[in-house]
Amino acid sequence: MFIDAHLHIVRRKGLPRNAAGSNFATPEELIRMMDRTGVDRGVLLPGTSPECAFQESTSEDILEACETYPDRFVPFCNVDPRVGSNSPDADLSFHLNYYKGRGCRGVGEITANLAFGDPLVQNLFRHCERCELPVIFHIAPQRYGYYGLIDTVGLAGLEASLAAFPRLVFIGHSQPFWAEISGDVTFENRNSYPGGPVVPGGAVPRLMAAYPNLYCGWDAGSGYNALTRDPEFGWSFMERFSERILFGTDICDPSNTHRHAEYLRTSHANGRLSDKAFENISWRAANRLFRLGIPN
Ligand SMILES: [Zn+2]
Repeated sequence: MFIDAHLHIVRRKGLPRNAAGSNFATPEELIRMMDRTGVDRGVLLPGTSPECAFQESTSEDILEACETYPDRFVPFCNVDPRVGSNSPDADLSFHLNYYKGRGCRGVGEITANLAFGDPLVQNLFRHCERCELPVIFHIAPQRYGYYGLIDTVGLAGLEASLAAFPRLVFIGHSQPFWAEISGDVTFENRNSYPGGPVVPGGAVPRLMAAYPNLYCGWDAGSGYNALTRDPEFGWSFMERFSERILFGTDICDPSNTHRHAEYLRTSHANGRLSDKAFENISWRAANRLFRLGIPN
């Protein structure tokens, strides 16, 4: 069983994401990709902030796809921190409770290019904690030219939010999150895929140990790189934190493919990953966190 915790779709193809004409998959194309790579279910994340959107993918689009294919897809909603009144006092529980009532299991991917500490972002976190909806977020290295919540090297903004909202589950994702697997991350390489042995002292292992409300989205090239660049370290990290690591891909263009599921299968078959860690990362952690109720 594999549950992909990080997928995107478009309802039908509109404005492409680049000159080459690529776009996210339609629900039907995504199901064919999942069948090809042995993924049973996928969590669909809407994209509603303008920073990284070409064709928008709304919460309503995601709900429609999930209602059409309820055995394959799980919906998230997305509520931009500026939505409604662009106010730190906006009652975002109104939005969140509506989508929660429609079956959404979390919020994101949050891609607004605002600082973690921005009052608008803190307000969103406050309401997500109140509504008991986990958040998945992209981290940006700086303002402008990027999308995602802005944080500094060392992830002080994320840490302050983890401490301020202890009952809110934060799912880390993106290059500036995963580059912090290693203590030698720099401003220059944090938005890329740093290789080589992991140096002790990284913010991600430290925060995972200190904050039980932090989860890792093991997805995209950044997640794959972080836990395979130093394989021994990666396997020990997976064993230690498997209850809070979610397999995902974020690979949603039909012409692309991913190696994440295959790496887990091979690591398990070769005895590098225990049954428990393999099962947790592949689907059990997601099954628990998103309350999917899939029986053993
Ligand atoms: Zn994504």
